[in-house]
Amino acid sequence: MTKVAFIGLGVMGYPMAGHLQKAGFDVCVYNRTKAKAQQWHQEFGGSYAATPAQAANGCDFVFCCVGNDDDVRQVVLGDNGIFAGMNEKCILVDHTTASAELARELDVIAKSQNKHFLDAPVSGGQAGAENGALTVMLGGEQEIFDKVKPVMAAFAKFSQLMGAAGSGQLAKMVNQICIAGVVQGLAEAFNFAEKAGLDSEALVQTISKGAAGSWQMENRYKTMFAGEYDFGFAVDWMRKDLGIAFNEAEKNGADLPMTKMVDGFYQEIQENGGNRWDTSSLISRFKK
Ligand code: NAP
Repeated sequence: MTKVAFIGLGVMGYPMAGHLQKAGFDVCVYNRTKAKAQQWHQEFGGSYAATPAQAANGCDFVFCCVGNDDDVRQVVLGDNGIFAGMNEKCILVDHTTASAELARELDVIAKSQNKHFLDAPVSGGQAGAENGALTVMLGGEQEIFDKVKPVMAAFAKFSQLMGAAGSGQLAKMVNQICIAGVVQGLAEAFNFAEKAGLDSEALVQTISKGAAGSWQMENRYKTMFAGEYDFGFAVDWMRKDLGIAFNEAEKNGADLPMTKMVDGFYQEIQENGGNRWDTSSLISRFKK
C-alpha cells in the first residue's frame, strides 16, 4: 500500500486528504490544531501524527496545503518539519498558494537532500476540494510529475505541469489576475442590471449562454444579487494571492493596472469587516 502524508487540514486539505484515503492510499495526516486531525481520523480512518516530520516519515508522497509562504517554511523547514522526516526519493507536493521564489528555494533544498519537490497550487475552491474535482497547476520535473499525477487524481479532475519549479505558482497568479477582473466586471454589470430594472434570473439565463458567460457568473450570480457573501474564497486569501502576483510583476515588468484597482476595492471590503467574505463581495461596494 502506498504511504502518503497530508499536512494541513483546512477547508481545502481536509477533504483532499479524505479523497486520498478513500482512493486506497495509506494516509497519515498532521494538523497544527490537533482536534482537526482527530476529527479527520474518525471520519476517514488512516492515522495522524504529532509533527509534520513524523507524518512524512516512511512515506512515498507528502502533500501539504497551508496558508502562505511563512507557513510553508514552518511546516517544511522547521526542526520537526516535513524535510526532517522525509526519506530520500520521497516527493513533496505543495498545494499552498505561495510565491514562485519559495518554490524554487524548496526545490533546491530538496535536490540537495536527494528528495523531490513540486509546487502545485489548485483552483476550484472548497467545492472542488470536496467533490474531488480540483485543477492543479504544477512546477517541477516531468518524471516526478508523472509519478504524482495518478495519486493526485484522487482529488483532481485535471493537472498540468507548467514548467520548471515555480511555474505552477506563476500559473496560479495568472488565474487570480483573471478572477479579479472577471468578478469586478460582474459586480459592475449586476449593479447596472439592478438599476436598469432587469429580471436577474432571465438576464443571467440569457447572457451566460453567450460570450459573457463564466464560472463566476454561473456560480455566483444568485448570491451577488442577494447580497450574500458569507462563504467561499475569502477576501483575505485573495489579497494574499494578489500581493504575490504584484511582487512577481515587479520582477517581470508586467503592468497590472486593473488588478491593482480591484485589490484596492478588496482592501475597502476588509476595512468594512469583510475579511472572510467571498471574492464576489466586490458588489457590496455598490449596495451601501
Ligand atoms: P484554511 O482553511 O485557513 O486552512 C489552513 C490550514 O493550514 C489549516 O490546517 C492550518 O492549521 C494550517 N496552517 C496554517 N499555518 C500553519 C502553520 N504556520 N503551521 C502549521 N499549520 C498551519 O485555508 P484553506 O482555505 O484550506 O487554504 C489553504 C491554501 O489553499 C491557501 O494557500 C489558499 O490560498 C489556497 N486555496 C484556497 C482555496 C479556497 O477556496 N479555500 C482555493 C484555492 C487555493 P490550523 O487548523 O491549526 O489553523
